[in-house]
Amino acid sequence: MIAPILRDLSALRTQTAAWRKAGESIGVVPTMGALHQGHLSLARAARATCDRVIITIFVNPKQFNNPDDLKNYPRTEEDDARKLESIGVDLVYAPDADQIYPDGFATNVSVSGLTDMLCGASRPGHFDGVATVVSKLFLQTSADQAFFGEKDYQQLQIVRRMARDLDIPITVVGCPTIREEDGLAMSSRNLLLSDRSRTKAPIFAEVMNDVREQLINGAAMSDIQDAAKERILAGGYNEIDYFELRDGTALSLLDRPKSGARLFGAAWLAGVRLIDNIAI
Ligand code: AMP
Repeated sequence: MIAPILRDLSALRTQTAAWRKAGESIGVVPTMGALHQGHLSLARAARATCDRVIITIFVNPKQFNNPDDLKNYPRTEEDDARKLESIGVDLVYAPDADQIYPDGFATNVSVSGLTDMLCGASRPGHFDGVATVVSKLFLQTSADQAFFGEKDYQQLQIVRRMARDLDIPITVVGCPTIREEDGLAMSSRNLLLSDRSRTKAPIFAEVMNDVREQLINGAAMSDIQDAAKERILAGGYNEIDYFELRDGTALSLLDRPKSGARLFGAAWLAGVRLIDNIAI
């Protein structure tokens, strides 16, 4: 069954109020569309634990610090709706821009600390845009559970903190990163890679896995970091924003792994910025 697509908040609230009245739990999966198996895995996780599942699709202008990135972001709404068909999603909320940012919108949700490093350092304002739209989507959908990918691990931690700090009664569930067969983390941005660039892309995940092995075998990050970055660049990437070992909760820098540590990377391939992270 193709899920209905709702575009305005009042229609969404009418539906969620009926579900609530019937005592049904609601799960939400916030996305920017161009859905792939990574997104679908979140929808399946929601389907498995919630009575009702809402997928939101909104390409949020506030989280793009680069106008070309926003312009080029893939938009494939009809395909998206088809992909959701087999999962049994109850509705797609694809709000018109004024349902999220009405005229005169003046509020910013900003999480300090966790947003200073990693993608926060290389994309100023990005996480304020994320925290603002996600807090609105939590309130608009009144969901009990929200499903986010570990692929965007820093985002997951920021969203958790935001919901806790603002007392939004929602459980934020983190789900594992889904990868292509060659190890590349699935991402809507992979669609922007030419065939030639796509063949070069997996070296990033390969190097991350090798670095994990080295760390587990006792190497210090400071001793192997430069060589790892050079391998990624030699493999065809043009620039590396970061390639770091960090704590998985506070996201503080580490030189050696400890419980919960993760390796984080962001790199540019032919004008496309790709990110990845793995648990050590
Ligand atoms: P996006 O549409 O890129 O904003 O992503 C929407 C949600 O899907 C976020 O919670 C992402 O972390 C998650 N996601 C994106 N790619 C993947 C992936 N490869 N595996 C698991 N979750 C993902």
